[in-house]
Formats: sequence, C-alpha cells, structure tokens
Amino acid sequence: MAKYTEAKCRLCRREGCKLFLKGDRCFTEKCAQEKHPFVPGQHGHARKKISEYAIQLREKQKTKRAYGLLERQFRGYFKKAEMQKGVTGTNLLILLERRLDNVVYRLGFANSRNQARQLVRHGIFTLNGKKVNIPSLQVKVGDCIEVPEAQRKIPVLAQAQEVIARRGCPAWLDMDGAAFKGTVKALPERSDIQLQVSEQLIVELYSK
Ligand code: SF4
Repeated sequence: MAKYTEAKCRLCRREGCKLFLKGDRCFTEKCAQEKHPFVPGQHGHARKKISEYAIQLREKQKTKRAYGLLERQFRGYFKKAEMQKGVTGTNLLILLERRLDNVVYRLGFANSRNQARQLVRHGIFTLNGKKVNIPSLQVKVGDCIEVPEAQRKIPVLAQAQEVIARRGCPAWLDMDGAAFKGTVKALPERSDIQLQVSEQLIVELYSK
C-alpha cells in the first residue's frame, strides 16, 4: 500500500493545527507546529485569499492526514457514512475513530496511529481472544483488545499505562494497564473525538 513518507510535521504546519503524528514529541516544546506556526515553504507567511473550496479541502485533508489514510480509503469511509442513518459528517468521524489501529493508539499501546498500524499489522494484538492483523477493522461494543503475555515486553507496549496516565483514556474505552487489556465500553460519540475539524465542510466538499 502506498504511504506518505515525507516529514510528518509539515502536514501539521500545512493544516495549521497539531495532528499528533509523532508520539511524545507532539507533547513537548519541540513540536514544529508550536515552534513555526505557519505554512511551510517560501510563501508560508504570505496572506492569501482563501476560497470556499480551499477551506473545505483543508478540513478534508486535515482529517485524512490525522488518521493516516489515503484519498481512496477516505472516500470509502465517506460513502459508508452516507449510507448510514444520521448525520453523515458525524458518521464519518465515528467510523474513523472505530478503526482498530486508532483504538490501539487511544488505549496507549502506541505513540501514534502510524505506529499502532504497524503493531497491528505485525499481529501483536488479539481481538476477543483471536490474533488480528487488520488495522482497518471496525471495533464493536464489548470488543476486547489484548496483548498476549509473550508480547508484553515490547517497550512501547510496556509503557502503555504511563502513556494513558499522560494522555488520558477516552470515555468510550476502558483500559486495564496491568492486564494489557482494553475494552470497548460504548461506541464513540462526536464529543469524544477531539480533532478540531468541521466535518460538515467535508460533506459539502464531497457533495459537489
Ligand atoms: Fe505535528 Fe507532532 Fe510534529 Fe507537532 S511534533 S508538528 S503535533 S507531528
């Protein structure tokens, strides 16, 4: 699968907000978005008139990049969201939030969604007792994500408890750090998703 390989901090600077793509560094004063809060490149400081289309496009790019998805995958989620009952924009964010790699990240088993995806692909976790290696899998209420005993010494996993204490565990998940186990208590709601995005603008962009 194709993937974005350039400097991740440039993505945050391009979107003008922190997307938390680099783990602990994002919480320190080394964060590039905090040190250089302007668009990268020669014309980064230039004031430009921004069209309605550009605003909608930036909201879409921001969301897509935060979850580390490519355009085709993101469009696929949008189509699914459109087919569901309720508000399409909210459905879209909830579908993204329910991805297994995102849940692993939220539980503190990884420093970033990118790292979470790698760990899932390597088959480090079990879902309801069965080994899984599909990062896009949608979690359901009652699902239990666990790290088997043999994998618990991997440093990033061993630090999970510490990470959760620092970052906090979302209300829809339950983390038992000592048992290396996380449970999905409920499906996420819009208020559980902290990404500062106006999802309605994404809907408007794709509805053109
Ligand atoms: Fe974004 Fe993290 Fe880089 Fe800051 S350190 S610019 S939040 S990826």
